[in-house]
Amino acid sequence: MADVDYCVVGAGFAGLTAALRLKQAGRSVALLEARDRVGGRTFTVTRDDGSWIDRGGAWVGPGQDRIHALMDEFGVPEYKQNHDGDAMMIVDGKKHRYGGTIPWSMSPWAVTNLGVGLTVLEEMCKAVPRESPWEAKKADEWDRISLAEWIEKNSLSKQAREMLDMALAGTYTSAASETSLLWMLTQMGSGGGPGFVIGGKGGAQDARPVGGMGAIYRPMAAELVDALHLSQPVQQISQDADGVTVSAADVTVRARRVIVAIPLAIATSIVYEPALPVDRAFLHQRMPSGAVIKVSVIYDEPFWRADGFSGQSSSPNSPATLTIDACTDTADPGIMCIITEGPAARRLTKLDEAERKAVFIGELVDRFGSKAKTPLELHEQNWTVERYSGGGMIGHAPTGVLTQFGYTLRPPCGRVHWAGTESSAVMCGWIDGAVRSGERAASEVMAAETAAVS
Ligand SMILES: Cc1cc2nc3c(=O)[nH]c(=O)nc-3n(C[C@H](O)[C@H](O)[C@H](O)COP(=O)(O)OP(=O)(O)OC[C@H]3O[C@@H](n4cnc5c(N)ncnc54)[C@H](O)[C@@H]3O)c2cc1C
Repeated sequence: MADVDYCVVGAGFAGLTAALRLKQAGRSVALLEARDRVGGRTFTVTRDDGSWIDRGGAWVGPGQDRIHALMDEFGVPEYKQNHDGDAMMIVDGKKHRYGGTIPWSMSPWAVTNLGVGLTVLEEMCKAVPRESPWEAKKADEWDRISLAEWIEKNSLSKQAREMLDMALAGTYTSAASETSLLWMLTQMGSGGGPGFVIGGKGGAQDARPVGGMGAIYRPMAAELVDALHLSQPVQQISQDADGVTVSAADVTVRARRVIVAIPLAIATSIVYEPALPVDRAFLHQRMPSGAVIKVSVIYDEPFWRADGFSGQSSSPNSPATLTIDACTDTADPGIMCIITEGPAARRLTKLDEAERKAVFIGELVDRFGSKAKTPLELHEQNWTVERYSGGGMIGHAPTGVLTQFGYTLRPPCGRVHWAGTESSAVMCGWIDGAVRSGERAASEVMAAETAAVS
């Protein structure tokens, strides 16, 4: 049995950060990770030519200070996302090519409606306290209705509804009817509002680390090499008056406290002894993730740029809900990313790999022309079926959950502490939020020991 000061469960950005900060503070740590790799919902693959593919989380934006601090710590520079060229929106089979952020060639009604809707939501986000959204003046009212109900009430046309739906529900990779309005306001508000979420330049897709997310998590893991145990899914956490015993597949750890840094929906797979308080246990059962497939298609060059496209396109409910230019800092090779979200991702999961590939390439040819027909490679990452993620991109709260169980998101349950991006009051759902949650949990366990001594 390993005997350490603290145990951390899960080596995504939250767990890696918690373990690293504890080690840097002179504490002994064991970091137990279920997969045979670190990174969790980020996963960088480096190709033979040195280019890289981020198969999960990839982009960073302004205000994401804690992931930027890690990048500085490990000497990882960023490069700006390509936004040059026209974007495309496809609605009812019609392609709208546009510069800037507004597809003006669409129905002016729909476009105005979208703009007004986002502005109203931006204001509503400001009325939600980041640390305690359940205390917002209208918390009960907003938690009682789904995002779909709000969109329905605030859309003047089918086009407007589809655009709002994609812009808002897309983040949760679920149908808008599955997500509470209060959750949407909380999550988007934690990053500054919907403008930041859907914004390219200056928003959440502003830049990427050179070398991908792996350029950050690999050196973190290297610093933790003595602490890290891969392929060790944690099965049980028992706590008593003196500490915790954490049992994984082949390793048992005895520690003073444990930080659990895994997605809420799969935190139910661990047996807690004694059982967790009911509200926290119910929170685990009620915070599902959505369905998402991320596909990276490699070409000799980013041919869409020469044709005047930025690579950004959107098509509500299609098998390629979004596309975005995902080239490295050198634009060689050309990398086009497809993100398929929600019900469309679930439908695609039922096809076999060859059928899905044909669908993806067909969508790219339809949008960017015949040069898209012959990629060098296609990398598909279906987060929907990843056992240790339980879906992606992030967990969401259906109606009624935040107001009843949200207060349990952060407080520890005895010696069991909680991290993970969904527990972050700032940049909740982003990699930056994961880092913040890891730093908060590390400070929390150390403060608990200090309090016990004094
Ligand atoms: C397709 C996709 C695109 C995204 N794009 C972006 C983006 O561009 N920018 C951005 O900021 N965010 C993005 N995100 C979200 C971002 O990836 C996550 O917010 C972040 O990685 C979450 O980190 P985490 O440490 O909280 O959780 P995770 O990364 O999920 O880490 C949890 C870890 O716990 C492990 N684990 C699970 N169960 C157990 C167990 N029983 N025992 C031990 N270990 C266990 C898992 O294997 C995993 O390594 C994206 C996510 C996806 C899926």
